[in-house]
Amino acid sequence: MHFPPRCSLVRPPSPQRGLTPSLSPSLSPSLSPTPTLALTPDEVAEFKAIVERTVALYEKDFESGFVAESPAKLRRLPQYYAALGGDGPFPPVRCNAPWVSVVLEADGAVRPCFFHPAVGNIRHAPLADLVTRNLRAFRSTLDVNSDPTCGRCVCSLNAGWRRSPWTS
Ligand code: SF4
Repeated sequence: MHFPPRCSLVRPPSPQRGLTPSLSPSLSPSLSPTPTLALTPDEVAEFKAIVERTVALYEKDFESGFVAESPAKLRRLPQYYAALGGDGPFPPVRCNAPWVSVVLEADGAVRPCFFHPAVGNIRHAPLADLVTRNLRAFRSTLDVNSDPTCGRCVCSLNAGWRRSPWTS
């Protein structure tokens, strides 16, 4: 991918890191966004332009599925940062991460996703019990459309499974 040299949000690829451009440190993922991670209005505008240029440049790759994510999902990113700066709402969330996946931390904690608190720890209970009992209980109380953590989530997963073994 090539971006203009004046683009300040994207570091050019380095030989050590391969061909994929990386986001600058101010856009690095974080579990809890802080004001230092926010973008200025000019940076949001620049980010939007980068996304639109990428969507136009790789239109066929999006259409063929070679790029797995959709342009709509890509456009959520600048919208998120605009909202973080108080310009408009956060993008709508469509996510079923706690229904189709589980996060297992190095210390044994089991989370519904990277952002919600742990529902247990495999050092104290079998994973199968935590998934079938605790995670199911968590899911029964979660409404991603109204949950404040979900409302500010930039990493929403909406995976389609023909058969989800954890469906409650
Ligand atoms: S929207 Fe984000 S915080 Fe909410 S369940 Fe999905 S990944 Fe977790």
